[in-house]
Amino acid sequence: AAKQRGKANRVRYHDGMEQPVLAHARLGGELRQALDDGEFRLYYQPIVELCSGRIVGVEPLIRWEHPTRGLVTPGEFLPAAEATGLIVPMGRFVLREACRQAARWLAEFGPESMQKIGPNVSVRQLHDPDFIDDVRTILAETSLPADRLVLELTESTSLRGTQVSRTLHQLHAMGVRLALDDFGTGESSLSLLRSFPASIIKLDRSFVEGIELDEPGTSAADARQAVAHAVVQLAGALGLVTVAEGIESQEQADLLLRLGYSLGQGYHMARPMPSERMTELFAANQALVAVGGDAR
Ligand code: C2E
Ligand code: MG
Ligand code: MG
Ligand code: MG
Repeated sequence: AAKQRGKANRVRYHDGMEQPVLAHARLGGELRQALDDGEFRLYYQPIVELCSGRIVGVEPLIRWEHPTRGLVTPGEFLPAAEATGLIVPMGRFVLREACRQAARWLAEFGPESMQKIGPNVSVRQLHDPDFIDDVRTILAETSLPADRLVLELTESTSLRGTQVSRTLHQLHAMGVRLALDDFGTGESSLSLLRSFPASIIKLDRSFVEGIELDEPGTSAADARQAVAHAVVQLAGALGLVTVAEGIESQEQADLLLRLGYSLGQGYHMARPMPSERMTELFAANQALVAVGGDAR
């Protein structure tokens, strides 16, 4: 049956195929249909200057507005999109939509608020020979200046090949910036920094979670603080900007600021939201929780 779905499923088919692969292939067909039907939306989460609470950028995060299942988060469909190759056209949609929206916000609210838009990019997109052309076309179509675009890449060994490296350096030469996402969780964090033309490091939220718990005996918190501090120092030495992910409390925000983080992102400041709500937030021009201010 999966065979009949045709081009949408680029999964190699053979007997004794494992269940998850089959499930991926099925879901892959559904995802292709959903992409054609325009069921994917971008939600936007502000990136905030910790000392002032000012919004300095946004991260677009894909959501599937399923007609019956409601809002579906990426954890439930990205693995299938990756496995079937659908991540490539889906990623193109994300890039176009994110750049279009960022250009609007840039025009309406100015370069201070809209310093960067940071869509996530899959390594599979970097392997697509059309990727550079797509980025160039999308920037031209949307009139978004290249220096507003920061592509977020999750560190992984597959970021190492010469083909990928060439693509990353081409992007860099175009003025597009790169962020290393989920920093500290990959196998290759430190050595990757030597060859990867990154401008931004995003500290993974697993190092932020529980970082503020300093009761005696909770050495896990000390370890997280040590890692967070080491990362920000390393980044500083390399001339990179750091963003702390997954900030859920004022205590965490305060602590990260003390450790040297200037930028943060997390439910404490704002959850991902539809573009209309993000526009309202820009229009209100209010700080989203200034560190050292009243906790709420
Ligand atoms: P990510 O790029 O690290 O994005 C941050 C994730 O953490 C988002 O989950 C966001 O909703 C969540 N988050 C933000 N603040 C907090 C917090 O304070 N606490 C907690 N517990 N979570 C927080 P989401 O939207 O479910 O996305 C998960 C991952 O899926 C992303 O992680 C990214 O790797 C991937 N992803 C999302 N959208 C896209 C996309 O358009 N393209 C690609 N290739 N990957 C995407
Ligand atoms: Mg990200
Ligand atoms: Mg991340
Ligand atoms: Mg993540």
